[in-house]
Amino acid sequence: MQFFDSHAHLSSDEIWPQIDEVMLRAKLSNVRRIMNICTDVKTLNGGLLLQEKFSEIKNAGATTPHDVEKEGEEVFPIFAEAARNKKLAAIGETGLDYYYKELNVEIQKKFLIRYLHLALECNLPVIFHCREAFSDLFAFTDAEYKKNAPAILHCFTGSIEEAEKVISRGWYLSLSGIVTFKKSEQLRDVAKMVPLNQLLIETDTPYLAPQSKRGKQNEPAFISETARTIAAIKGISIELLAKATFENAERIFQ
Ligand SMILES: [Zn+2]
Repeated sequence: MQFFDSHAHLSSDEIWPQIDEVMLRAKLSNVRRIMNICTDVKTLNGGLLLQEKFSEIKNAGATTPHDVEKEGEEVFPIFAEAARNKKLAAIGETGLDYYYKELNVEIQKKFLIRYLHLALECNLPVIFHCREAFSDLFAFTDAEYKKNAPAILHCFTGSIEEAEKVISRGWYLSLSGIVTFKKSEQLRDVAKMVPLNQLLIETDTPYLAPQSKRGKQNEPAFISETARTIAAIKGISIELLAKATFENAERIFQ
């Protein structure tokens, strides 16, 4: 059995000092691939070093919707150059976050569109962050992103209806440790309905440790709890769940 953690922040300040131990525990827990999400220049440079050192790691990059107002303009050319030089396997996480009311919506939309165009230019999949903004996300991607171009909805926490719209666009829906939380009944209904060939799993390390590790710093080794929970909901073995999500991630990230 082998796992693909489709979303982790390994070059973050939290993980960086313990990266060797974290990667060893990942290996011992059958995590064979990890998509490292770079969100600024520091984590991009760190990610490129990690990619040299660990064959399991590949990088994605973009300024998050939370930071585009502060540094989106300055950092965009750096991610664009990395993408054009084939140093990235995906563009993201980009998207829209309307949960935090202080974030500027117009600037988020502007950078979402720029990153969509970069992904199309470089023929790379996009990783979306979307919180309370699905109708705008669908409207913008329908207008600015090619139909059937590859995309992932990372750490999905939306409704069944929103999940159906993700699925109908041919995108992948990625579930994090939130699916293991006691209160996540709605998300477990989503886990049940997502077709196995459009499902991914992720830790979102260092955030969102699964139920049995709540409050702790998350890491890729903890992905098995999420996998086991989803497998039980779907009534399949954890081996089959691991295999399907691994193959899906390999397919989208090539
Ligand atoms: Zn993330």
